[in-house]
Formats: sequence, structure tokens, C-alpha cells
Amino acid sequence: MQRKRNVKIVATLGPASTTYEMIRKLHEAGADVFRLNMSHGSHEEIRERHGIIRQIEKDVGSPIAILADLQGPKLRVGTFAGDSEELVAGASFRLDLDPADGDASRVCLPHKEIFDALEPGASLLVNDGKIRLKVTACGADYADCEVIAGGTISNRKGVNVPDVVLPLAALSEKDLSDLEFVCQLGVDWLALSFVQRPEDVNQARELAAGRAAILSKIEKPAAVKAFADILAVSDGIMVARGDLGVELPVQAVPPIQKRLVRTTRSAAKPVIVATQMLESMIDSPMPTRAEVSDVANGIYEGADAIMLSAESAAGDYPVEAVMTMDAVAQEVESDPTYRDVIEAARKIERKTVPDGIVSAAREIAEATDIKAIACFTQSGTTAALVARERPRVPIIALTPLTGTARRLSLTWGTTCAMTSELERFKQAVVSAARAARELGIAGEEDSIVVTAGVPFNVAGSTNILRVAPCAERLIFSADPE
Ligand code: PGA
Ligand code: MN
Repeated sequence: MQRKRNVKIVATLGPASTTYEMIRKLHEAGADVFRLNMSHGSHEEIRERHGIIRQIEKDVGSPIAILADLQGPKLRVGTFAGDSEELVAGASFRLDLDPADGDASRVCLPHKEIFDALEPGASLLVNDGKIRLKVTACGADYADCEVIAGGTISNRKGVNVPDVVLPLAALSEKDLSDLEFVCQLGVDWLALSFVQRPEDVNQARELAAGRAAILSKIEKPAAVKAFADILAVSDGIMVARGDLGVELPVQAVPPIQKRLVRTTRSAAKPVIVATQMLESMIDSPMPTRAEVSDVANGIYEGADAIMLSAESAAGDYPVEAVMTMDAVAQEVESDPTYRDVIEAARKIERKTVPDGIVSAAREIAEATDIKAIACFTQSGTTAALVARERPRVPIIALTPLTGTARRLSLTWGTTCAMTSELERFKQAVVSAARAARELGIAGEEDSIVVTAGVPFNVAGSTNILRVAPCAERLIFSADPE
């Protein structure tokens, strides 16, 4: 399916989006990638949502990416008898190791290590820092706190302890079992929470063993510091602003977002801007002006994707939230300033033949009336290089590999089409022209640019650039080979 925008939309699934009908509506409204959050939902629920997405993919006939987001060493409270409670400033509230449902006076914090590391005076931030607790007394299995800033606390909300260094492994027992579960189920992207070091990414990559691409969520000060090394070993990046804005002062987030988007873009890897993009739409059909502006800014920065969390997972207006992102994207991308900004930020060191070919493809397409750049890609690398150019014309990625097509659903401006294994370049041109016509990107009278690597099936071998007509009879008469 070809969208009327380049930036991709990631929608998190949850209680508000469990049925075939709802998930299909989200896809039709514009969701290109679905995120399964392993912090919420049982394996059975995850399996069911996964099955629904794959069914929709079959029914609509275009690839959809599934991103499984591992909880990582994130601290979360347990559950409440009434699902949520109001905490008021000045009240006392206890965290302990008792797995029984919580109430207004206590809740379980099922992490033994934290009680060993806590000291009176430490701050605990709950629900992205909306609730602030201060430890007044603590022991091996409890912490008594004073509520400094109150609010609603609900089941499994996240807890950050910025003042305390916690001795936690990058992948918890739960993560190890979730990772194996989703890899067997078959997901396209595996997102790692609270990455701190490149070793964390390597460990997950070894366990995934090629079954999913690895996306690092940048949400710890340590990850911001080690970003270059983490990027080098990751397939993609998420600017995880929720936890980032709790672990660091909120005002540190926008400059970090800009740097991460720019650096990841220039490495030809996809980057997602995430969290609170349309937060008010959880319970309102209309976003705030500030939210619309935030979504627009992510797009102006050239992010590959923008993401919905609770808006699509647990809100009252999931479809409206996707539609809002889609509408903002179309408006921004038709603004001439958008092109200026995107092109000014295109800092690419071109060192290889494929770099040169994709850059030439873009220049030819933009200088003339060529309708699309089509590229043949096995691993997805060539398509990522074309996307890095952020061309003005659509990118059609042709691949015989379903996994590659699905993963590329996260990549800026790329529409994927499946093709059979190719043997000859002319076949490639014919199938590229057909895909362009079928997607409605080009007509019989139009031309496209085709790039490929010959011999086929060798990764990183892009070495051909051909301007080809879209009409089949012309392809054959122009190219008797
Ligand atoms: P989360 O990650 O929603 O899994 O916490 C995103 C973020 O922290 O922004
Ligand atoms: Mn997070």
C-alpha cells in the first residue's frame, strides 16, 4: 500500500486495540508498524494480536512490520484491586514485595534489588514522573514514602529511581523468555528498553540469531553518552522520550532528539520519535496545538517514524490519533520549507559505489519528470541507502524476502513490493515498472529509475542504474537483452 506521506506511523496495540476490526481500522488510517509492548499483555494476548496483524497483512496484500518491545530492566509496580488509585500529596504510601493487589496505602514493587539499593531521601518517580515519592524509611522488603506530587497510579506503571544506581542485567528473566517467545512467533523488529552499552545490544542480537532486527531504545543517560557505539551495533533507534525525560531533565530531551535523529539518519538506519506525541488524545478527540507542533517537528527533523503509545493502546480515540498523525504528516510534507529543511540536513559521506548510485538515482529523478526510484534489495540495505537520500520521489523497494519487506515498513518513504527471485536485470526492470504501475505511482507513459546489484543475491553489491520506461512494450524494444 502506498501512503500519501513519507514518515511512517508506529501504533502500539493494547486493550483499546485488540480486535481484527480495530487493528485493521488503525492500519487503514495509516499505521505502518504495530508495536507489541511486552510490558503489558500475556503471551496469549500477544500471540492473538500477532495473528490478527498477519491476517490483515494477507487481506490487504501489503507488508506490515511487527515490533516487539521488550520491557528491559524497567521497574514497575504490581496491580491494584481496583486497577488504579489516587495518590494525594502529603499522604504516605508503601512499596513492598507482597504480590497481593495494592490499594491507596501500598502496592507491590516486585524487584528485590531496589530495596537493597534504596536509602531514605531517595526519589521514586512513577508513571513517567507524574507521581513523585520520597523515601522516608526503608528495609530489605519495603520502602515507606511520602507522596510529594500526587496523581493516578494504575496497574504496572513504570518506576524510575534516578538517584540510585541499580545493579540490573540488560535482559531480565522475563525479557529472555519474551525474546524467545516473540522470535518463535516471528516478529520483524525487537526493541530493547534501557540499553546502556553496546554489549546489551550484542547480547540480544546473539539471542535473536537473525530472526529479528534490533532496535535500541535510548532512554538512559548512559545510552546518550555511548550513543555512537550503540548506533554502530543497532539496526534502528528509538528516541524513548518518556523515560529519557524522567532520567534526565525534560529540557534535555529536545536537543538529544535532534542529535539522535540526525545521527541515525546519516547512518542509514531507521529512527523512531516516541512517547507523548498526542498524549491528550488518550481521552480527547482533538490534540493540543503543542502536540501537533511536536509531531510536525519530528517530521521536519526527518525521523523515519513517529509513534503512538497509550493513544492507540489504551485511549478512547485510537483511530483518530493515527488519522491526526497522518494529516499532520501530509501537511508538513507538502510544505516547501520541509524540503529545504530535509535537504539542508542531508549530510552524507559517500564512500562506496552503492552510495554513489543511490545519490545519482535521486539526482536524475529530481532533475527530470521521473516518477519513482525502484531498488532491488535482499537485506534492505540498498533501500535504506536510497531512503537516506530523502528523495522527492517515492521509493519502491522490491525484494523476494518477506522479512525484508516487513522490516522496511519502518523506513522513511519506502513502499515495498514482493518480487520473485531474479536472474536477469531485464526481469528486474519489468517487475519494477509493473510495481510502479500497480501502486499507482507511474503510468504507461512515465519513466522510473531502477537500481540493482548484478549478480543478484549478493548483499551490498548495487552497481546498476537504469532509467526505464514503465510501458512493457518499450522495455522490451529498448532492451533486447
Ligand atoms: P516505553 O518506552 O513506552 O516502553 O516506556 C518509550 C519511552 O520510554 O519513551
Ligand atoms: Mn521507556
